[in-house]
Amino acid sequence: MARQLLQQCLECKAWTLATTCPSCGAKAQAAAPLKWSPEDHRAEIRRKMYGVTEAQWAEGLATLPSLEEMKSSHNASEEE
Ligand SMILES: [Zn+2]
Repeated sequence: MARQLLQQCLECKAWTLATTCPSCGAKAQAAAPLKWSPEDHRAEIRRKMYGVTEAQWAEGLATLPSLEEMKSSHNASEEE
């Protein structure tokens, strides 16, 4: 079983699902897989960039209005 279904001919660059090229008969190999990982390797860099470890970072986060504010605005919009 190929590690990836999509193959590309080494000679004519044709795309195929077989390991031999349907156009020229040369060997086809797996197209380069996407560089992907479930682990976020750049998270450390991003945390540094945004200053997540600094105390004032949390203050800059968006907040919801208080429950009382939400209730009052909800009732006002229902009356319209
Ligand atoms: Zn080919």
